[in-house]
Amino acid sequence: KVSTSDSETGPLDYTPLKEISFGVQRLRDSFVKENKLSSVQFRLNQLRNLYFAIKDNGEAISRALEKDFYRSPTETKDMELNVSLAELVHTMANLHKWVKKEPVKDVPFSLKNSPVYVERIPLGVVLIITPFNYPLFLSLSGIIGALAAGNSVVMKTSELTPHFSQLFTEIITSALDPDIYYAVNGAVPETTELLNQKFDKIMYTGNNMVGTIIAKKAAETLTPVILELGGKSPGIILDDVKDKDLPTIARRIAWGRFTNAGQTCVAVDYVLVPEKLREKFVKELTRVVDEEFFVGLNKDNKSYTHIIHERAFKSLYKMLETTSGTIVTGGYKNADAATRYIPPLIVDGATWEDSTMKGEIFGPILPIVSYANLDRALSEVITRHDTPLAQYIFTSGSTAPEKNALVAKIARTIRSGGLMINDTILHVGLANAPFGGIGESGYGAYHGWFSFRNFTHERTTIEQPLWKDITLKSRYPPYSDSKSNL
Ligand code: NAD
Repeated sequence: KVSTSDSETGPLDYTPLKEISFGVQRLRDSFVKENKLSSVQFRLNQLRNLYFAIKDNGEAISRALEKDFYRSPTETKDMELNVSLAELVHTMANLHKWVKKEPVKDVPFSLKNSPVYVERIPLGVVLIITPFNYPLFLSLSGIIGALAAGNSVVMKTSELTPHFSQLFTEIITSALDPDIYYAVNGAVPETTELLNQKFDKIMYTGNNMVGTIIAKKAAETLTPVILELGGKSPGIILDDVKDKDLPTIARRIAWGRFTNAGQTCVAVDYVLVPEKLREKFVKELTRVVDEEFFVGLNKDNKSYTHIIHERAFKSLYKMLETTSGTIVTGGYKNADAATRYIPPLIVDGATWEDSTMKGEIFGPILPIVSYANLDRALSEVITRHDTPLAQYIFTSGSTAPEKNALVAKIARTIRSGGLMINDTILHVGLANAPFGGIGESGYGAYHGWFSFRNFTHERTTIEQPLWKDITLKSRYPPYSDSKSNL
């Protein structure tokens, strides 16, 4: 083990740059020569090893994340461990079904009696790069999909969670066959060196700026990419919302914003509320934050996550210092730079021009923007923050778009990666529904069957018996009208 880059003594052993090309080549050689993953039983064994590795080490993983950014072990269990295990179980239970060849129906007459089917073949060696915010779930979910589909995996977790990344590397490297898995640790130099290698697919989860770097680099070698990026996801409250529903809506929005101290890709990034409901909603939201969820919260409280690093802390703090809105909870003066603690903050009366409304916040700050005219508000959304990763619409009416014209109109107007009506963020954890962005928030969806599809090539195969040439005569030259009429 050799430590390089910015930390000689830190908890994460960076991969020596010189080792990286050999590590990747080793996986490629085994993929070509031995191809252990061509056996579905081998894939299942590897997935089972993963399952027990995670189950047995769940507590240690939670503790590592607590060290990295004060994340409460309960939050890690609820938001990462359980969903990861559920996806593993779902994948193991369904893999035999997914690998089956899919017969093609409605083939031309000339192909009757010739088997025609789609088989989903592995791509080869895939690179998965993940961010710090949900490092276990995001990394595992990619690994599960890629292995289930028969690919070898090169994994690069975030250097910003060094305790986690070190432990994860040790756990997964000993759980999986070394011929199919290689972990690289480090920061920009190590990732750049990785991108100099040839892969069969790259899956990147993280910010849009790096996503662009990765897509450009991948384009040089025609490498397909899945990009899971960020965005500014709105919570939109409709003016049909009744007073009795405000507490529930406030609770769901507060959960969707302040979990993991707002460092969630699909977090509610701002709320659009009808002017007539603004005061009541803000009062209710403040009550939920101060009196229900985070009573007596301070920097030493163990159930609240802190900000990942100093740079992010400073930029969030600056956002608060320059907001034109009114901070109605906690008070940012209670923030603590030493531990990078920022309490949950609601910014009432934010405008579209406010410091909190420029880009994705990715922290525990929730601006409330009121609107008098829904059409104008929607037009601001699509002009300023189009194609968010998620959108959340709240109504006291029907949740079904077919029965609620306003819900249908918003869903149609804002093209988003995911949509929830009357709740927030939980769609990410569904083991068998596509999760992914659109436009600015990325492309290529995954989880369960959708991961399997994304990590395979759909190969159309035709088995054509030689005896059938008699029926194929018309296609051969010399051409004549009488032949083609046959
Ligand atoms: P991060 O800083 O941990 O970076 C993510 C990965 O990119 C890391 O592995 C890092 O080493 C690598 N990286 C950083 N700079 C690089 C460079 N110049 N070249 C190559 N690789 C580089 O995390 P982050 O990007 O700050 O993550 C937060 C963002 O990710 C937010 O915008 C969030 O919305 C988004 N996100 C999206 C999803 C999703 O599923 N769509 C999930 C989580 C986070």
